[in-house]
Amino acid sequence: MIQTRLNRVYADVHACEHAAGRPIGSVKVLAVSKKQSVEAIREAYAAGQKAFGENYCQEALAKIEALKGLDIEWHFIGDIQSNKTQNIATHFDWVQGISRLKIAERLSAQRPVDLSPLNVCIQVNIDNEPTKAGVLEGEALPLAKKIASLPQIKLRGLMVLPAPLSDVTIVQRAFRRAVRLHKQLNDAGLHVDTLSMGMSSDYVLAIEEGTTMIRVGTAIFGSREKQP
Ligand SMILES: *Cc1c(COP(=O)(O)O)cnc(C)c1O
Repeated sequence: MIQTRLNRVYADVHACEHAAGRPIGSVKVLAVSKKQSVEAIREAYAAGQKAFGENYCQEALAKIEALKGLDIEWHFIGDIQSNKTQNIATHFDWVQGISRLKIAERLSAQRPVDLSPLNVCIQVNIDNEPTKAGVLEGEALPLAKKIASLPQIKLRGLMVLPAPLSDVTIVQRAFRRAVRLHKQLNDAGLHVDTLSMGMSSDYVLAIEEGTTMIRVGTAIFGSREKQP
């Protein structure tokens, strides 16, 4: 089941890349496995998926431990509290969703020196939603410059989570603002290669608009509600 869905997502992504005139394989697919079982992750891994995203620290640590023999790249994509940075810096390969310098500084200080620098993306609150994490557009570049200088952090780019897909043109505008902002960072010499944008409901549009990484949960694993 998961294998079938995963293959369908990849076929769809490749078709979108082709339609957008982008190289096949240029969009990375992150499988978002929050609230899914260890067995579900194993199944996706057996089908070839290597990058997984988790939102909740305790839940993720148990899964990382259970799957430690596998060559998985783990992304933390949830909100980060200061008291979780030690575990996140130690057990993850990527953190998407940095909104504060203080969190980035803690992650850098706590990243074990025998590991490669932690890959991070700054979360941008692209629709300026009061309930959502992320920096405002104008704050992204100054924060990026500071984060880029931290020793055990590698700034990879931006992550956005637009307001739910209600009106395509509104989401499209949000995606275009994110693309412009990403370009601004590169124009400032920051060499960022990642724009994490697009989920199950809107990745087709995100690929058209230039995303480099989509975070896909339900389209791969099915509903999260059914899980215990
Ligand atoms: C849950 C989640 C996703 C995946 O959402 P789906 O709609 O299931 O694809 C992507 N990004 C973030 C930040 C999430 O929290």
